[in-house]
Amino acid sequence: MADTDIVIGLEAHCQLTSLKTKLFCGCSSDYRGKEPNSNVCIVCLGHPGSLPKPNRKAVEYAVMTGLALRSKVSERTAFYRKNYYYVDMSKNFQISMYETSGTTTICEGGYLDINVGPHKKRIRITRMQLEEDPAKLVHIGPIDLSPYTLVDYNRAGMALLEIVTEPDMSSPKEARLFLQKLRSILEHIGVFDGGLEGAMRCDANISIRGSTRVEIKNISSFKEVEKALNFEISRQRGVLRKSERVVRETRHWDEIRKVTISLREKEEEHDYRYFPEPDIVPLVIGREMVERLGRSMPELPDARAERFSREYGIPAYDAQVLTGEKALADFFETCTKMLGEAKTASNWVMGDLLGVLHDKDLELHEAKVTPATFVGMLRMINDGKISGKIGKIILPELVTSGRDAEVIVNERDMQRIADTALLKSVVDEVFAENRKAVDDAVRDDNAVNFLIGQVMKKTRGKADPQLVNSAVKEKVMRLREKNQGSA
Ligand SMILES: [Zn+2]
Repeated sequence: MADTDIVIGLEAHCQLTSLKTKLFCGCSSDYRGKEPNSNVCIVCLGHPGSLPKPNRKAVEYAVMTGLALRSKVSERTAFYRKNYYYVDMSKNFQISMYETSGTTTICEGGYLDINVGPHKKRIRITRMQLEEDPAKLVHIGPIDLSPYTLVDYNRAGMALLEIVTEPDMSSPKEARLFLQKLRSILEHIGVFDGGLEGAMRCDANISIRGSTRVEIKNISSFKEVEKALNFEISRQRGVLRKSERVVRETRHWDEIRKVTISLREKEEEHDYRYFPEPDIVPLVIGREMVERLGRSMPELPDARAERFSREYGIPAYDAQVLTGEKALADFFETCTKMLGEAKTASNWVMGDLLGVLHDKDLELHEAKVTPATFVGMLRMINDGKISGKIGKIILPELVTSGRDAEVIVNERDMQRIADTALLKSVVDEVFAENRKAVDDAVRDDNAVNFLIGQVMKKTRGKADPQLVNSAVKEKVMRLREKNQGSA
């Protein structure tokens, strides 16, 4: 349930990771894992006299995102210099977009609908802008205790799309749902891979109604946004309870200690002294380009969820969950096609696979399971080679090792026991070892389940449950008849 007095707005920073090069130079976008400060040039290092050249594809990706979020794409936009002095931006300004008389940022307005339980909630978008990513600062331990800071410019100049929302969210959970949905949309458009470390980061503004607004910076993922905001709500409530004032400031989310810490009192916008970037001409975005991109837009998550319901007959809620992440939707759809039916695939993906991923704190792209190995396991269940129960036992290993279900089952000797003679001998053993339970079962139907449980236990879950059920019940019936006969 959302708290009615909480007001949250987000600024999501999404790297356009599908681009080959950075926003204003020819350096590769694929900077991850490279030796620090090796993926740089005079432009992204900000050497005097170097000239930035906007990446056309980045503009197209921003327009596509605008279309997906039903924003108004500006006909004319311009880059501005946002001036600030900090080591993560060596030229002392960031090239960004700005709204002033005559120009707007690349997209304005729009919205994104999130599903909060069974309800749809609309989160309005204020604007979107393209800007360059600053360098990455590497701290030794927590930011406020680090003896020194290392700077890596490999990331500097990456194309960032900043998406600013209206303060329409009223709980940390809604903030998480917003970012998750945004991620799925960007992945479906194909401009972004949310699985890459640091590809989606955000700043959050939060206030308890009637009190001061606080900004939390550098939240690294949608998982962290919920934790950071929950912490900040308790902190602010604590301050208010003591009848003290919440200070207007910028705070940093410390992922290790799970606390927010004060960084600085909030700058006002005019502190940045925005002025037009003199080295880049204003961008004129032709209607023709917008229309062309509009025609080439791929299927988006909401439309895909509707199609899943319609085509595969799965409940609307399940379809929303499955399309919440592109990788998950693709996984489900591939499995369904391989298996030839959707119900088994959706049940196992929704219930068991998501459960295992959650337990292991993994995302699907980090897991080793593939549609082929997953469907291989489902086929073994359908063919009666293993029971569903064994499927649940081996699934975590499929997820972490990527091995075939058949190999795991053979190795662990987990094939289903459907050999009636063999089962009968196990049933006989259990009856011989549990005289009292057998007497109870003869008198009372409810006590039969204990014996069934013992047989399953003895076969380590491998016995076909239906065969065990009938074998045990049959034997009890025979004992009853015998008792009646002798009475
Ligand atoms: Zn460069």
